[in-house]
Amino acid sequence: MGSEADKQRWKVHKFGGTSVADADCFRRVSALLHSQEGRRQAVVVSAMGGMTNALLELVVQAEQSSNSTNAGIDAIRQRYLTTVIELIRSEEDRRPLLEAFEVELGEASDILNAISLVRSAAQRSRDVVAGYGEIWSTRLLATFLQQESGNDPQNRTVSWIDARDILVVEHGELGPGVLWDKSHSLVAEHFPADDASLVVITGFIASDSDGLQTTLGRNGSDYSASIIGALLDASEITIWTDVGGVMSADPNRVPEATVIEELTYNEAMELAYFGAKVIHPQTMSPAVARGIPIYIKNTFEPQAPGSKISATAANGHAIKGITTVESVALVNLEGTGMIGVPGTADRLFGALRSANISVILISQGSSEHSICFAVPGEMANEVETVVRRAFAMELEQNQIQRVELRRNCSIIAVVGDGMAGMPGVASRFLGTLGKAGINVRAIAQGSSERNISAVIDADAATRALRAAHAGFYLSPKTISLGLVGPGNVGSTLLAQMATQVAHLKDTFNLDFRIRGIATSSRMVLAEKAIALENWASEMEARGEPLDWDRFDAHVNAEHLPHAAMVDCTASEDVSNRYAGWFTQGIHVVTANKKAQSGPLDYYDELQRSRRSNNTHFLYETSVGAGLPIIQTLRDLKETGDDILSIEGIFSGTLAYLFNVFDGTTPFSAIVREARDSGYTEPDPRDDLSGMDVARKLIILARELGLRLELDDIEIESLVPQELHASSIDEFLNELSNYDEAMLNRYKEAHESNRVLRYVGSLNKDGKATVRLESLPADHSFAHINLTDNIVRFVSGRYGDNPLVVQGPGAGPAVTAAGVFADLLRLARYLGSPG
Ligand code: ADP
Ligand code: ASP
Ligand code: MG
Repeated sequence: MGSEADKQRWKVHKFGGTSVADADCFRRVSALLHSQEGRRQAVVVSAMGGMTNALLELVVQAEQSSNSTNAGIDAIRQRYLTTVIELIRSEEDRRPLLEAFEVELGEASDILNAISLVRSAAQRSRDVVAGYGEIWSTRLLATFLQQESGNDPQNRTVSWIDARDILVVEHGELGPGVLWDKSHSLVAEHFPADDASLVVITGFIASDSDGLQTTLGRNGSDYSASIIGALLDASEITIWTDVGGVMSADPNRVPEATVIEELTYNEAMELAYFGAKVIHPQTMSPAVARGIPIYIKNTFEPQAPGSKISATAANGHAIKGITTVESVALVNLEGTGMIGVPGTADRLFGALRSANISVILISQGSSEHSICFAVPGEMANEVETVVRRAFAMELEQNQIQRVELRRNCSIIAVVGDGMAGMPGVASRFLGTLGKAGINVRAIAQGSSERNISAVIDADAATRALRAAHAGFYLSPKTISLGLVGPGNVGSTLLAQMATQVAHLKDTFNLDFRIRGIATSSRMVLAEKAIALENWASEMEARGEPLDWDRFDAHVNAEHLPHAAMVDCTASEDVSNRYAGWFTQGIHVVTANKKAQSGPLDYYDELQRSRRSNNTHFLYETSVGAGLPIIQTLRDLKETGDDILSIEGIFSGTLAYLFNVFDGTTPFSAIVREARDSGYTEPDPRDDLSGMDVARKLIILARELGLRLELDDIEIESLVPQELHASSIDEFLNELSNYDEAMLNRYKEAHESNRVLRYVGSLNKDGKATVRLESLPADHSFAHINLTDNIVRFVSGRYGDNPLVVQGPGAGPAVTAAGVFADLLRLARYLGSPG
């Protein structure tokens, strides 16, 4: 590259209607061209955005009545005049432009009058009228480039070519095909020989072999560019448009669609054929034949890399993109008489071909009992007539039982070279549609295995597109989250997530979006996501009274594939909502113990609801904070181990109190100190009562399959009976009356070389106790760090030498990290990679 010969090679650009919609657009295009390095640039341009539609609309109007086109013609004139006046400074330069325009507009008006006389437009008249848009836009661009040529550092000469003088095509069954030899010699004749040249060429229009005007079909300028590229043996073709490239799906329908960096000609062709309007399907063939790469770039963001379409593409995803074809009708021809009879398909498609009906998709079961095919929706009636006529005899003789027509369908197609020979793509595709509740009416896979298409109901198309797009990881796996309870744990979680979400998105394609935060009385919602660094000020500024219905509905947004609630409260009001969340399909991640340790009825209801709604319920942090206790228990159980007993210190607070208590300081003073340093609940009785430990034990018992209620646990409360009702202060004061009793227990233990520990234990027969025990000084529970939790599993496999999980079992940082880990586990259950 970079050799003299390369510098001489043409580069071809194509600007779509959106790129030349108004005066500003022309300025942008001019600047863009001037900044191009190659000396020879050929520039194919569409009509100003909307112009072709406006012209074709005039044809329709003329067909309907006479004298109805004046207003439309005036509007076109107005638009063009305004743009010309805004762009072209000198009267002298404007005049020829406007004179030619008036002549041509007059011609168009004559043709329209003729059409309205006969109330019918011949294809040729339609083509001629539609083609003026390109003539006007290119002539204007050429004049403007000429005026601005002082800004061209390469000082290239500007010229204008009417494509009808160089492109000769012939219309066949597959659309317009180029007469290459003829076109080649015309190019040689018309293209400037200068080695520094900017040539502006009309897109869309061409001549036929009789020298009469024709077009390359709607959106045909892309094809024009590719043909010109081939004729000039260009080094590359760049299609400039209003999006960043070929995207993984239509960005209007899938906001998460991303630009496909590289794709093969085949992939691009398949995407274009199945509805990706960004490029015309026929664009590929001339470029393929000469191996010219095609770039798709955004005029409005020219420095972005865009998409590269060429013979080979870097292997990214197996699936490159997903498209839909709208307004399709599905026809099903069914009959026992078709089985084993050769030629039925032939006759069917022969009849359709004679009627000029193009079939978008065909699917025939191997039983040959039915053939199913899709046609453009507007052809539906005609197709039915044609098919019934073709098989009139068979229908009458009941060899064919049914010709069924289903209107209002769409085709959704997943496209990618990489799916060839890769098992599981179809099942993932159909599975994803199934999970999104979308009924598939027919499927087809091309034998190239580059495309799998499914026919679905039209009204499900957008949902199908989004589900499939996420299902193939083309969009990050997005999980919409509602956080309930931004207290100690909740706000720490938000802070931890703030540092990780970008990384998770980049590395694992995982997009966690906190879209709602609720306290017990207020909530804040965000359409995309709440800025995690400023959630508190967002709550302050935009908070509103809590409305659970709205909160749920917002988090469970229709357009996002997954939703989960994160409960960081200790509230039963919140845990009572879980069943309802499951019913709505919302997953639950919680640090709250209330639901799992509450009444068995509710526990059972939750499990049922979770199962029948296919939702997940994660609560690892409800026992031992971030320590893997529930997970360990499940692993043992699921691998067939027989868990005989579980025993442990499940309260960081109580661990602390008895680690510190050595008989020197009174127990009540230690409780007070611990409370002052934040080691206990605000009311230390919540810890000392043993209820918290009992709840954890219940959770583990139920994991083991034991149907225990809180009442079934024998609990030794460290809160004296008489102090249950007192205020916190009274309690703290009066606890000293019991110091002596506690000291005696300590001494008694100490004398026999034992220590006091507050232990929860559970055995497989369902006996469960929570109490202060005196344990040998060499017991593993005797040597733990201040606030550690420790859990010992005795099982068939871990008999003499039990499995022990030990570590910090309380505190906001480790608890929040545990909740975060549950969220990541949830993402994996939902099919996120990594
Ligand atoms: P131009 O006027 O430049 O020819 P078009 O409007 O014909 O532009 O095509 C570009 C438009 O195609 C985009 O603005 C986008 O809305 C739409 N589109 C549909 N599917 C895709 C896709 N898969 N990738 C990119 N754009 C797409
Ligand atoms: N102007 C034509 C159309 O609107 C061709 C093109 O834009 O590619 O179809
Ligand atoms: Mg286009």
